[in-house]
Amino acid sequence: MQITSIETFLLHVPVTNGRIEDSTHLVTHWGAPGCIINTDAGIRGFGYTGTHGHLALDRILCQYVLGVYAPLLEGEDPLEIQRLWSKLALFPPSVWTGRHGISRLALSCVDLALWDIKAKAAGQPLWKLLGGDHAKKIEAYNTDGGWLNWSEQRLVDDVRQSVEEGGFRGVKMKVGSEDGNRDLARLEAVRKVIGPAVKLMADANGRWDLPKALRIGRRLKDFDVGWIEEPLWYDDVAGHQALVQSIGTPVALGEQLDTLDQFERFLEARAVHFVQPDAVRLGGVTEWLQVADRALASRLPVVSHVGDMMQIHVQTAFAHPASNSLEYIPWLRGCFVEPATAKDGYFVRPELPGAGTEVTREALDLYGKPTQ
Ligand code: MG
Repeated sequence: MQITSIETFLLHVPVTNGRIEDSTHLVTHWGAPGCIINTDAGIRGFGYTGTHGHLALDRILCQYVLGVYAPLLEGEDPLEIQRLWSKLALFPPSVWTGRHGISRLALSCVDLALWDIKAKAAGQPLWKLLGGDHAKKIEAYNTDGGWLNWSEQRLVDDVRQSVEEGGFRGVKMKVGSEDGNRDLARLEAVRKVIGPAVKLMADANGRWDLPKALRIGRRLKDFDVGWIEEPLWYDDVAGHQALVQSIGTPVALGEQLDTLDQFERFLEARAVHFVQPDAVRLGGVTEWLQVADRALASRLPVVSHVGDMMQIHVQTAFAHPASNSLEYIPWLRGCFVEPATAKDGYFVRPELPGAGTEVTREALDLYGKPTQ
């Protein structure tokens, strides 16, 4: 099989209620810049990444795919993913300009599209191609209800609905308010409404410094918080290590780490408990698998961050023994041929051949933006 051409696309999809906030970000649209890799076998591979919907950045990303990566891919065999991944990631002119950031996101787009081709060529969903487990149960926890700009009443109403109507066995809420006491009051209110059996996670999105994280972190066990996510600045290995040793609540992180090497530093320091790689911020499924294997070697659970809005991470969860739960955010569900679905608190196993990344024509018409 040969790659014949590469196209790009850009989805721009409104988020819940038109605006969500955490301690660090304000988001009105989720961006999904991506690519379609065409082959001489007629198979089309779809890959994309997830952004906060900044159109100028998303367009640069599309240009990166077309201008830098496409010439390296045309004429190649798309099934040789490891070789092509190295060819792109180690392409000499881009090594020092492009190991992180936009180039990494562009690499993930390409990598996902290659895996989509490989799985379609095999006639299998990706999880099966990777040797997964059809009988696994992937627990879904709902993130889309705990935003920091929600009033306490709306927060409580949303988590109640998630549990009572949605069937979720876990919810995540944002913390990192200017006044830490607001966070503690909201945690108390949520724990009260969901009861002791439902899992409750908290996410500070890197907002706290170590003294604040220590002060609030020590209170989290009062509300049986399953993990505190990104309590500190994303790259602060020593700070997370100190926190892990000082509070009684596990620490989760990884959504801002975009290489295997960055994960290695946290894992080596035992500065994380729940490992949260994101295949669309790393260099795709290829590097996600490397991180997941490394976490497994430390006997730590992998709970992916879903910058892809779940499509690829449902596949990797069914594929990998360290990954048994996943967050639920439904913003892009209407865009895919086989949307990721949670039922009675668990993800439904994908069945169609491919990586789950194929976007519908209707979604491109409805949410598509010019890529330049
Ligand atoms: Mg997070």
